[in-house]
Amino acid sequence: MSTSTDDCIFCRIARGEIPARKLYEDDEIVAFHDIAPKAPVHFLIVPKQHVVNLYEVDESHERVLGRMLGMAGGLARGEGAGNGFRVVVNNGRLGGQEVYHLHIHVLGGNAPLGSGMPR
Ligand code: AMP
Ligand code: ZN
Repeated sequence: MSTSTDDCIFCRIARGEIPARKLYEDDEIVAFHDIAPKAPVHFLIVPKQHVVNLYEVDESHERVLGRMLGMAGGLARGEGAGNGFRVVVNNGRLGGQEVYHLHIHVLGGNAPLGSGMPR
């Protein structure tokens, strides 16, 4: 599954072509609030390079993936989720992926999230 970066909504956010409530940005990563939050804190950490999902990653992506995961705790704390948060990466149709540009969801807030595991 691939999407033209011209049409990809997260590529367009990365390029600054459409607005997002950004909370972090550097040369290779952007983090912004989810437009339809599922928890009091819900933001996305996104590589600026178009990568479809974890099926598509290779060794060349390891550094940026490590950085994305590495910044999740600090950003979560900064957003007020200092007592617990969850990261989720949806992959593919059966994994619930809606936007086919890799992203890490960071979810947290003021109540326990529960196990979050499919039953
Ligand atoms: P997923 O199902 O893992 O692909 O999640 C895609 C997420 O992107 C959903 O939680 C959407 O609410 C979110 N989303 C879609 N469009 C935008 C946008 N323009 N700005 C911020 N978040 C978005
Ligand atoms: Zn993209």
